[in-house]
Amino acid sequence: MKAVPAETDYIVVGAGVAGMRAAIELAAAGRVLVLAKNELTESATQYAQGGVAVALSDEDEISLHLQDTLDAGDGLSNPEAARVLVEEGPVRIQELIDWGTEFDRQGTKLTFTREAAHSRSRVLHAHGDSTGREIGRALYAKATTLKHISFWEWEFTADLCVCDGRVAGIRVMNDRGEAREVHGRAVLLATGGLGHVYRETTNPGVATGDGVAMAFRAGAELQDMEFVQFHPTALYVKNAPRFLLSEALRGEGAWLRNAEMQRFMPKYHEMAELAPRDVVARAIAHELEVSRLAEPVVYLDLTHLDPGHVAARFPRIHSTCLQYNIDIGTDLIPVRPAAHYSMGGVRTDLHGRTILPGLYAAGEVACTGVHGANRLASNSLLEGLVYGARAGMTIREETPAAAAKPNHAGTKSCRAAENPATREGRGADEIIRAVRDLAWKNIGIVRSGSGLREAIEQLDKWRQCLPAMTSRRQCEASNIFQTALLIARSALARLESRGAHYRLDYPSHNDARFRKHSIVRGETIRFE
Ligand SMILES: Cc1cc2nc3c(=O)[nH]c(=O)nc-3n(C[C@H](O)[C@H](O)[C@H](O)COP(=O)(O)OP(=O)(O)OC[C@H]3O[C@@H](n4cnc5c(N)ncnc54)[C@H](O)[C@@H]3O)c2cc1C
Repeated sequence: MKAVPAETDYIVVGAGVAGMRAAIELAAAGRVLVLAKNELTESATQYAQGGVAVALSDEDEISLHLQDTLDAGDGLSNPEAARVLVEEGPVRIQELIDWGTEFDRQGTKLTFTREAAHSRSRVLHAHGDSTGREIGRALYAKATTLKHISFWEWEFTADLCVCDGRVAGIRVMNDRGEAREVHGRAVLLATGGLGHVYRETTNPGVATGDGVAMAFRAGAELQDMEFVQFHPTALYVKNAPRFLLSEALRGEGAWLRNAEMQRFMPKYHEMAELAPRDVVARAIAHELEVSRLAEPVVYLDLTHLDPGHVAARFPRIHSTCLQYNIDIGTDLIPVRPAAHYSMGGVRTDLHGRTILPGLYAAGEVACTGVHGANRLASNSLLEGLVYGARAGMTIREETPAAAAKPNHAGTKSCRAAENPATREGRGADEIIRAVRDLAWKNIGIVRSGSGLREAIEQLDKWRQCLPAMTSRRQCEASNIFQTALLIARSALARLESRGAHYRLDYPSHNDARFRKHSIVRGETIRFE
């Protein structure tokens, strides 16, 4: 079997929208290695349904997209990062179309749908509800025309290698737990999200917070980790994965009903089902709490809409629900909220640079502050395109192929970042299950100081039981554990409610103290 080369020019960890887009940029400057821990097609990008937001329709303006993004961010978005997103978005989308992406059209005109908290119809979609898959397909097709890019599936990145204070490579691990180092001029983390820190999540199994945990161990800064978006409507069928039921369903007119079959959203918010995600998720959490059902759920109801239109507009959702004997045109769909998207992550500037030389990040794993305290729906595929391209360009300029190589002679001065667990411990799956349950209960949609402190104490106790990081699953257990702790610490430090972070003991904003980003490095946490 072919092994990953020991040396290349650029290492891209992650083959979703951000990693692919960056790799295309880097291919002009040298050899690019793109790694994915499962198949190339297993990423959040592949599951993105609703679409990609971009101010391209006749009725839209870039300034309106900017305003909606800032409003969703609830006072915490970095306005410069948001401006870059909306201004560069149209160029990146046009480029995608030039590379063969088939967005849905009516005749020759692109069709835009409306999603919650958007003031205009500005969400492009492909094959109805398979937008991410189509974008991933087109990016991969483009990348394979560039001879310097090589893709490696099923190559798990266990850690970053730090060499003379510079990130100079990665440690990869195969399925048998055999590890080896790969060195390069720069490493881009594009590892996506962290949904699997939580028991209930819409994310694919690859989203175990690896990038965040690796960067933390290497000494990078993390920003806004307390802001995790919970999607209000994931299909709830016992023992089945929590399949996402896109916001676009509510955009097309779906209603939410509680166990008594009452449409409840109008009593929580004037925009009813189209209220911001965190409002809808909390409203559902409340309805579930007061419900008397043994397996509490609420229902998404599209039965008042034309079933033919519903099936045609959402073919993937329609066929997936049919596997569970639910016809979305005629049946009520049982739903619960689930962890969906991380606004926080590895702190970067607007060019993907972290504070560690040689380390860059883009996409969901990164935090430029673009989403602030809450992400506007369908802004993340755009973020992957815009900031993936930016990171690629920056790396190309800062570490051109002709530049002096970092010294890894004999790899003597390289070290894998500090590995917290080197002892025999509990089984990886057991730890993962326990952490995910705890995170859902204490670090989830509704938080409190006592619940967060309890979670941190419990996690500290479990630290002693973490297994050694000698297999991929053990690394994931350690990463999930580390990421849960980072979210809990940041959430405990933010003594207010804002965006997706809601605390029962501090239910309001505190602009004077907390209209700032939380930044964690090692044991310290600060706001700035
Ligand atoms: C169900 C669902 C629906 C969504 N719908 C939308 C939508 O309609 N519009 C929108 O804008 N956003 C949507 N999102 C969010 C959006 O899809 C993601 O934020 C975005 O695709 C993230 O892209 P990414 O490139 O950062 O990461 P991903 O696409 O998640 O890719 C991560 C990559 O990193 C690799 N990786 C991770 N860890 C390691 C490791 N240790 N070693 C090696 N490789 C590793 C994975 O294998 C994968 O290739 C949705 C998300 C989900 C889960």
